[in-house]
Amino acid sequence: MSVRDKQPVFRFAPSPNGRLHLGHAYSALFTAEQARKAGGRLLLRIEDIDLLRCRSEFIDGIFEDLTWLGLSWEVPVRRQSEHFETYRQAISTLKNVGVLYPCYATRAEIRAAVEGKADHPRDPDGAPVYPGLYRSGEAPSDPERPYALRLNHALAIKLVRKKLGGRPTFLETGCGTSGETGELPVTPEIWGDVVLARKDIGTSYHVSVVVDDALQGITHVTRGQDLFAATHIHRVLQILLDLPEPTYCHHPLISDTAGRKLSKSSDDQSLASLREAGVTAGQIKHELGFT
Ligand code: GLU
Repeated sequence: MSVRDKQPVFRFAPSPNGRLHLGHAYSALFTAEQARKAGGRLLLRIEDIDLLRCRSEFIDGIFEDLTWLGLSWEVPVRRQSEHFETYRQAISTLKNVGVLYPCYATRAEIRAAVEGKADHPRDPDGAPVYPGLYRSGEAPSDPERPYALRLNHALAIKLVRKKLGGRPTFLETGCGTSGETGELPVTPEIWGDVVLARKDIGTSYHVSVVVDDALQGITHVTRGQDLFAATHIHRVLQILLDLPEPTYCHHPLISDTAGRKLSKSSDDQSLASLREAGVTAGQIKHELGFT
């Protein structure tokens, strides 16, 4: 085994569906700093499976903005849109394990099923937990109808527990939104039966991210607290797919001056606009606490 193989591996994995903003700058600088402190490698991954929302000009923008911040990364850069076949294979493995079921439900059907039920549980993103339509596996009469594949989370956790001989955990070295840290129990039930293969692209963020983290040998996942809850699904998938377990470090999110979480739609805060307005990369780093 070479020295390189033993080195910790970190990644910054933006989605090119808008220009990067201060929140991304924080996440990228944080990841680079963690990699440096650990004597590790830094990879950049372009998460562009959402073919409708991702645009190549935003990929160019990512390279431009990160270079401006003084960051560098290994090449070639992995682009998820070039690896749909790899994700399809992982979905097929999960199908064989028996934890996926076809779900033909439209958004309107799901809305109707939960309507008026004020106590219906919500997932960590605030959406109603999927009400279980089609979980029985019965297909609709029209065989042409498009479907997504959902995770039967109750069955998945049962299989995972059996495989490990107990409830799985993940190691959090940062913290979740409520301060969760350390060795944490994995609770996919907070999400219910999530979609693992979307109707339009046949994969999902959850599947693509765990497959790529494993393929790229990522040992340390550093990302914002908005993705903390997703780790519960990621650990379940890693165990079902026999993938290695990375360490997780979720960092607080940067908010704008009004205390709102920054989003790609608030273009005024993009790194490109700040740069055009004469702000320097040094000022950004200083502002974010990286000097
Ligand atoms: N692509 C995701 C995003 O931009 C991040 C994925 C991850 O770090 O796990 O929000």
